Amino acid sequence: MQLKDSFDRTIDYVRIAVTDRCNLRCFYCMPMEGITYEPKAHLLTYEEITRLLSVLGNIGFRKVRFTGGEPFLRKDFVKLLESTHGLNMYDSIHITSNGTLLTKHIPKLKELGIKNINLSIDSLDEARFKKITRRNDFAKVIHALNSLIDEGFNLKINAVVMFGINTQDILPLVQFAQTHPVNIRFIEEMPFNGGYKENDQIFKADDIYRVIKKEYPSLSTRPGLHGETATNYTINGFKGDIGIIPAFSRTFCNTCNRLRITAKGEIKTCLYDGGIFSIRDFMRSGVSDEQLTAKFVELIKLKPKNGFEAEKHRENSLGREESMSSIGG
Ligand code: SAM
Ligand code: SF4
Repeated sequence: MQLKDSFDRTIDYVRIAVTDRCNLRCFYCMPMEGITYEPKAHLLTYEEITRLLSVLGNIGFRKVRFTGGEPFLRKDFVKLLESTHGLNMYDSIHITSNGTLLTKHIPKLKELGIKNINLSIDSLDEARFKKITRRNDFAKVIHALNSLIDEGFNLKINAVVMFGINTQDILPLVQFAQTHPVNIRFIEEMPFNGGYKENDQIFKADDIYRVIKKEYPSLSTRPGLHGETATNYTINGFKGDIGIIPAFSRTFCNTCNRLRITAKGEIKTCLYDGGIFSIRDFMRSGVSDEQLTAKFVELIKLKPKNGFEAEKHRENSLGREESMSSIGG
């Protein structure tokens, strides 16, 4: 079965934020203080997430990503990975993590055949990393990075690029891909967490491209995979490659294949909508799997054409009340 939305896009990729809690405080994502975490009882339980994944697997979902907050902060996260693996419905299980708590779980990930990890590292300079994340965990993250490379994981590094903060990190990160088989992905900053920004305050995908192309003229586009948000590039002689994600410019919407579930069980059919339905409350009202299935089919038909349409129709304005840590990126 393939589930299509109203714009004939096949929707087969679910991203679940398993927690809104985080042990870092990346300033573009979370405030330093005054964070109101959802009470634990508001978060989806391990059983609820497993049930949702089973229902989605039955209607054609084939890729799942666990994100957060920091997924490894959740005590039953490994149990959730085991139950997802046990469903035997997904072609691939992916995790986005800040890497601080990951290294000790590498044997388990390998045992479960989980190979796809995205690590968020906005700078390879320790002082700047600390300034951005407002925590002192650089060594732990680099240890996780090196261990994942040594163990042969499919590794992507996510780096949000921000004017006046870390544009000088673009080339060192690119250089890392020269000698390591990783995909370095530069992401346009999105104005979440109260940090509203004007269009011209964003370091755009084109700006990132120009910085890299100037230094590496052999930078060339490589064909994308189904639903990829990044435009990917190769550079002659590099072991790894480069991706650029226009998260602010939103030029990838016409191939979108994803559904998001926030930590408290809100369905987002677009990163830019404000959450359109509480699947948690629906489940907790005692519905059957058939009713859940019908609800997902209905919600997917409501998926907007693109992020601009989604933003137009949301009730609260973008970025005022939402943190990426509850949405999952
Ligand atoms: N804690 C994990 C991590 O940092 O990888 C997973 C959750 S984090 C919200 C997921 C991704 O969203 C990270 O790669 C992060 O850099 C990205 N992100 C967070 N806030 C963002 C923003 N305002 N603009 C663009 N990307 C953002
Ligand atoms: Fe935490 Fe990830 Fe947000 Fe940084 S980007 S504060 S690591 S959830």
